[in-house]
Amino acid sequence: MSLLIKGADLAGAGAGDLLVRDGVIVEAGTVSAPADAEVIDADGLVALPGLVDLHTHLREPGREDAETIASGSAAAAVGGYTAVLAMANTSPVTDTAEAAERVAELGQRAGLVDVQPVGAVTKALAGEELAELGLMARSRARVRVFSDDGRCVADARVMRRALEYVKAFGGVVSQHSQDPRLAGPDACCHEGELSGRLGLPGWPSVAEESIVARDVMLARHTGSRVHVAHASTAGTVEVLRWARAQGIAVTAEVTPHHLVLTTDLLAGYDPTFKVNPPLRPAEDVEALREALADGTIDAVATDHAPHARHDKEHAFVDAAFGMLGLETALSVVSDVMVGSGRLDWAGVARVMSVNPARIAGLSGHGRPLAVGEPANLTLVDPDATVTIDRQASHSLSRNNPWHGHTLTGAVHATVLRGRPTVLKGALA
Ligand SMILES: [Zn+2]
Repeated sequence: MSLLIKGADLAGAGAGDLLVRDGVIVEAGTVSAPADAEVIDADGLVALPGLVDLHTHLREPGREDAETIASGSAAAAVGGYTAVLAMANTSPVTDTAEAAERVAELGQRAGLVDVQPVGAVTKALAGEELAELGLMARSRARVRVFSDDGRCVADARVMRRALEYVKAFGGVVSQHSQDPRLAGPDACCHEGELSGRLGLPGWPSVAEESIVARDVMLARHTGSRVHVAHASTAGTVEVLRWARAQGIAVTAEVTPHHLVLTTDLLAGYDPTFKVNPPLRPAEDVEALREALADGTIDAVATDHAPHARHDKEHAFVDAAFGMLGLETALSVVSDVMVGSGRLDWAGVARVMSVNPARIAGLSGHGRPLAVGEPANLTLVDPDATVTIDRQASHSLSRNNPWHGHTLTGAVHATVLRGRPTVLKGALA
């Protein structure tokens, strides 16, 4: 079977057709439909290489009441993703080759996106002993990204060892940058004037920035690669800018929520807005937008963090950290970055597909829309307006911070190796 995508704007580079056969783009330009072809009329739509999420929490194994690999894959496909990196902080933790292979297999079984496991840096995320990094890298899951996300690799000696180790096979350590000594155990939001007024224990921006600064120096020392997960402060952006100017191998991601939502939302004590790193003041949001536009921050990553009601619907201080993100990320980026003229569609392709695929070492994703390339792609309707409804979700959880927001730009279709997984915004 072949698939003809007719008249899409190819990542903002002008209209063209794409003919796909056996999972590969076989013709581009002006193509007349072969007799056996399924045709997608893409007039007015923008085609992007399939989106890649560097930071997804799928909760399986261990918390299948909040999300499964299947439900998270469905949410990802509807969000325009063709690949997601599944974070290691499941129960049990993905800290062995077998655990990583199991996650990859469950992803294949769901069959909606490529689920690429992230391996833990340390055993059980305890921050002490390195996990089986080499075995995970050599396993069938071919792990290249390692992270204790949810926790910071706080011990500089452990971080140094991890960086040295992953260098051997071109891996990268994705760091949840947060000094646990500066972010106390009770801290639940950004430390500032508002946290004082609300009586909520906060943690300061420097808890993030000091670890980012330390890690870029460790990356320089080891000649290895570090990736800053969910950069959230203007100070982090300053450090990244300096490190890049030195030629240090550091990359960074920002979440959709840190590009829009601010700490003021906490005034109503709604735990939906409790997230780690916390929502920050407007100056940080502005710095993050600028850094994404000028390339200081490489990628948008969702940090999709589903939580069951009984974990999230608590008093603010007791509620779990995290927000959903897979289904809304493209619309948020379209609305805030394209709508303001800070990114064009080629720029969206770069930060949501090309760069994340490169950082994660996923050779089949983030490729140009050209003959001979794998047909992983996303069709976006740039003019569609969507009002987000938390009930309309493929996730098993409902902690959606965008509920009620109206955004411009929506995913129309997703194609994984030539097969539509999503058509007209719904699972195909
Ligand atoms: Zn994190």
